[in-house]
Amino acid sequence: MLTVNAYAATSATEPLAPATIDRRDVGPHDVRIEVKYCGICHSDIHYVRNEWYEVTYPVVPGHEIAGIVAEVGSEVTKHAVGDRVGVGCMVDSCGECVNCQKGEEQYCLKGNTLTYGSIGKDGRLTQGGYSTQIVVTEDFVLKIPQDIELDVAAPLLCAGITTYSPLHHWGAGPGKKVAVIGLGGLGHMAVKLAHAMGAEVTVLSQSLKKREDGLRLGADHYHATGDPDTFETLAGTFDLIVNTVSAKIDLDAYLSLLALDGTLVNVGAPAEPLSLSVFSLIMGRRSFAGSLIGGIRETQEMLDFCAEHHIGAEIELIPADKINDAYERVLASDVRYRFVIDTSTLS
Ligand code: NAP
Ligand code: ZN
Repeated sequence: MLTVNAYAATSATEPLAPATIDRRDVGPHDVRIEVKYCGICHSDIHYVRNEWYEVTYPVVPGHEIAGIVAEVGSEVTKHAVGDRVGVGCMVDSCGECVNCQKGEEQYCLKGNTLTYGSIGKDGRLTQGGYSTQIVVTEDFVLKIPQDIELDVAAPLLCAGITTYSPLHHWGAGPGKKVAVIGLGGLGHMAVKLAHAMGAEVTVLSQSLKKREDGLRLGADHYHATGDPDTFETLAGTFDLIVNTVSAKIDLDAYLSLLALDGTLVNVGAPAEPLSLSVFSLIMGRRSFAGSLIGGIRETQEMLDFCAEHHIGAEIELIPADKINDAYERVLASDVRYRFVIDTSTLS
């Protein structure tokens, strides 16, 4: 057992604070990673504040992990000491169900093991990447291509794959009009990725405050959803809308922006239920869908795509003692566009 420094939440209402946690000994198929950087995802905030379901504390959040392999188990073949690697939202799955067999481990029918807040195969609660080291089974460790710096690679492990997967699944590409609702951590990655895939990209943000950034990131158009004219001007326009908003939105208003056969896919995961009128779907044969991160094979594909297209996240690097401030700024939609923790500040 290895005791490592971390930052943990001890309740839904207390600020996160320095802590130590134990990592398991490296087993034959395990990789021990020296965590260099970890992104702050809005899911970390929903989770530690007990918004989704009952949480067992203390919890160390963090599922956008980038680091260097420090030790490998005796039977590890995929990774070697010194490799640049990443870990996303999952650290294990059953490997046997029909979804795992398809490489869609995020939809494991027995429930995958999340990077934090799950019971691992060793019977202990998993703890995430706001820490200096992590031990993960080799199949759930991704290779970070040389062309992407580790700090800007970290957010790809969640924000990147969560937007790449639906864009890819619903065929974002040349001739397709894609809108992204919310220009935060996921939203800014969706813009970069959809642009690189060749789609015509529109940002739908609450205001025009981030317009210049949106266009620089690859958007062709930028509209404020606070302006009612936006919904009139863009009615019936988009083949695909990716909703990254962390709060409840008026789905009917956004569904009206879909073209015939268009799909609105929700990746945002607010705690409150969303409602819609079926007429928003019937009129225009529209679909409303959801999508959860992406499988391991697709995550590697996304990392390789990002390297090929010179894509990393736009980040603000912070020391560990700024994590609580960063949470407040994310909640105020004041993030440009992902906070990343420099884990050397944990020691
Ligand atoms: P984020 O950085 O906070 O971005 C969310 C953006 O939504 C904000 O920047 C803001 O953009 C917009 N927004 C926030 N509150 C709003 C409101 N009340 N009305 C309208 N727009 C609002 O969060 P994130 O890390 O990208 O995560 C977004 C959501 O995705 C979270 O719910 C998270 O849990 C979820 N998530 C899901 C998956 C999955 O697998 N499905 C994976 C990761 C995260 P503007 O300022 O541009 O309007
Ligand atoms: Zn996430």
